[in-house]
Amino acid sequence: MIEDKNQQRTPLSELGEFGLIEHLTNNFEIKQQSTIKAIGDDAAVIDPKNKRIVVTTDFLVEGVHFDLSYVPLKHLGYKAVVVNLSDVYAMNAEATQITVSIAVSNRFPLEALEELYAGIETAAKIYNVDVVGGDTTSSTSGLLISVTAIGEVNSGDEVYRSGAKPNDLLVVTGDLGGAYMGLQILEREKEVFKVNPNNQPDLDAYTYIMERQLKPEARKDIIKLLKDLEVKPTAMIDISDGLSSEILHICKASRVGCDLYEDKIPLDPQVISTCEEFDIDSTTVALSGGEDYELLMTISQEDFPKIKANPNLTVIGFITEENAGAHLVTRAETKIPLKAQGWKNFDS
Ligand code: ADP
Ligand code: MG
Repeated sequence: MIEDKNQQRTPLSELGEFGLIEHLTNNFEIKQQSTIKAIGDDAAVIDPKNKRIVVTTDFLVEGVHFDLSYVPLKHLGYKAVVVNLSDVYAMNAEATQITVSIAVSNRFPLEALEELYAGIETAAKIYNVDVVGGDTTSSTSGLLISVTAIGEVNSGDEVYRSGAKPNDLLVVTGDLGGAYMGLQILEREKEVFKVNPNNQPDLDAYTYIMERQLKPEARKDIIKLLKDLEVKPTAMIDISDGLSSEILHICKASRVGCDLYEDKIPLDPQVISTCEEFDIDSTTVALSGGEDYELLMTISQEDFPKIKANPNLTVIGFITEENAGAHLVTRAETKIPLKAQGWKNFDS
């Protein structure tokens, strides 16, 4: 199922390491003022002026974080960038540069890496970040991608996980659970394909959730929105592992508890209908699914009037004293302790 638009397969050895880097990176544009030197020297040079720099990095490993039997390489390149930018935005910072490191086995032809880099380039364009470096090496099996993202923030504007206070509102962007249910569809179709490669699946009912899995977006727009609304969250984190795990991170770092209301968790209708089809509880999916790359934040009560009319922001609960603990208040109005059951990549 690997998408190979041009059927040509040029072995990587034909270009050599330097030829390959040059080939993949020669059309990257530089747009950020703070980028002084990008690809082509021993290191990039960045001028932060009077801003603070935030740095974050993430690894994506074939067979652990992605499956190339249903993830097109272009989407993979895009996603590898987006998941890092999401961490920058979660600091309330503006993403400005990335570096991209890849380890690749000789199973991949040049054309495959061109697809990967087309996705990286698209994400860099859309999010307005410069690709300023990276590393290229070989691997004995499979593909590994590591992206480092750099961002800038005015001193004092950065938002940590540790600033939530009792009575703050718990607020989430967008809707949850889509990426996980999209993965369920892709896994199911992979099995169907194995049995009957000629089957033409009708996936119209799943377009939104499949896109949430294959082409996630980072909430750059929310950082601007918060600025425009003049709201500085007291704490913030991006949702990569599932809502409950991220809430617990904030509670632990801020030494607070919380009440999360089950009936407030935003769900897309496609998530609800697909959960019904798979006979899975949609709350469990939102709490534990992960990979939605929405932002979870706490904001002070006095900022509520500024956010209440905004369709991008949903109040899902509030912060309590630490000794009250972190709870889910169910639709039946019972309180159950929140547990972190994020994606466990290390599970066998
Ligand atoms: P060095 O030997 O000093 O590590 P390289 O030959 O690996 O230098 O890299 C040369 C230039 O190309 C550097 O600017 C480096 O950051 C950049 N580069 C190398 N690999 C990649 C890649 N996969 N993506 C983007 N830039 C890369
Ligand atoms: Mg190198």
